[in-house]
Amino acid sequence: DKAQIGVTGLAVMGRNLARNLARNGHRVAVHNRHRERTDELIEQFGSEGEFVPSHSLRELVDSLERPRRIVVMVKAGGPTDAVIEELVPMLDNDDIVVDAGNANFEDTLRRESSLAERGVRFVGTGVSGGEEGALHGPSIMPGGSASAYRELEPILRSIAADVDGTPCVTHVGENGAGHFVKMVHNGIEYADMQLIAETYDLLRGVLGRGPGEIAETFREFDRGRLESYLIGITAEVLDHTDPRTGRPFVDVVLDQAEQKGTGRWTVQNALELASPVSGIAEAVFARSISGQVRLRQAGRNLPGPSTPAEQPDPERFVADVEQALYASKIIAYAQGFNQIRAGSETYDWNIDYGAVATIWRGGCIIRAKFLDRIRAAYDQNPELPSLLGDENFRQALEQAQDSWRRVVATATSLGIPVPGMSAALAYYDTVRAERLPASLIQGQRDYFGAHTYRRTDVDGVFHTEWAGDRSEHGA
Ligand code: NDP
Repeated sequence: DKAQIGVTGLAVMGRNLARNLARNGHRVAVHNRHRERTDELIEQFGSEGEFVPSHSLRELVDSLERPRRIVVMVKAGGPTDAVIEELVPMLDNDDIVVDAGNANFEDTLRRESSLAERGVRFVGTGVSGGEEGALHGPSIMPGGSASAYRELEPILRSIAADVDGTPCVTHVGENGAGHFVKMVHNGIEYADMQLIAETYDLLRGVLGRGPGEIAETFREFDRGRLESYLIGITAEVLDHTDPRTGRPFVDVVLDQAEQKGTGRWTVQNALELASPVSGIAEAVFARSISGQVRLRQAGRNLPGPSTPAEQPDPERFVADVEQALYASKIIAYAQGFNQIRAGSETYDWNIDYGAVATIWRGGCIIRAKFLDRIRAAYDQNPELPSLLGDENFRQALEQAQDSWRRVVATATSLGIPVPGMSAALAYYDTVRAERLPASLIQGQRDYFGAHTYRRTDVDGVFHTEWAGDRSEHGA
């Protein structure tokens, strides 16, 4: 009997994805460059379902029913290209290669078009949820031709996370759309984590509460509208006591946040698309600063606020912080979804934004009740120019804004950095402003570079003779 699907690359992600496939009744051919991983998988988990061990890519290819479906789950970048290049000459027309690694969507665009020329269908898919997700049900974001997706759909639906009977998988769009959306997912994840970290820092710095007490506050948040995987694990981490020292875990961990690069990709792409994601950018930069030891050593000499700030009422401050976190989160997601829109328009993907919110409700790192509200907003108006234009979000921001401003003001007066919350607030105030000082920028540009400007009252393009008589010329 031939296998229905193959997986090559059996490190944590590939192994767990293969087990998930087998547990759901699929006959899975498995392969890894070094055969030890394959043997180990069969030895430890072989009884979970039907596995077909293969010790070469040739064997893997030969063991599959046609059209073949092969999931590549190896290290992103060069290794993925190497595996694809070795694989493709062995494949037939219409076979399907699925790259489920964390590829940059631009690599996916390149791979898809190169494989299409060679008659092989290529699907670049985002998979979120880490190793637990891969095993028990990830959020799956596939991009590629509709025909390839149709061949994969029943299998993907069977292994994806499930929320209220809806599997967390959808055909995001052609070629790079899936990896693009996964990239923005990760960017939003950075922003969300940063906002939660700022909330913790405020509760600690302003109210002097300990990690255990703050864990309790996050548990309370988790029972309300902020309910999410990230808030839940935050409470767990804050509650953890270091077994070596008996101190709170967060106090013994080096405060230098690392990153693997997907947040940076999101920001780089947002710059290309001119789609502001200041919440994500601040989160990426905050991690960068945290790791810059010499900068931070030099910074330690800089003075903080000289007049002691007023201590806010604790109960009110906790309520204010909850509002600030929620409002900033709305902004971060609104920015992320606008980037997805910009990508969809630029690359012709025709992405269904509500469907993206739907598949993020389960399996992935940013899974949250909140995503139901995003889906509802796009259900009501699929062409919503921004989530901030949705009436429910508008009301939430209206209700939150005074608290949000108080929190940012308190943080500023105490010298506690809240780059995520304050950038979100600045974005909010920028988009709602009737007039922006951009008119002055245009004047400056026209002054030094004759870059011209447009007027509020008359159509056309104008330039002022700044060095001469300051008369205006229409162009
Ligand atoms: P790694 O990213 O650590 O990659 C290890 C796997 O890649 C091993 O199977 C290894 O084979 C194989 N490999 C590396 N180089 C080559 C090569 N030149 N040729 C053939 N095979 C090679 O594994 P993970 O399981 O952590 O991740 C797999 C993919 O999933 C990555 O793209 C990752 O970015 C992505 N991902 C990871 C998540 C996570 O939480 N870890 C979450 C979501 C996506 P060998 O055993 O022979 O060395």
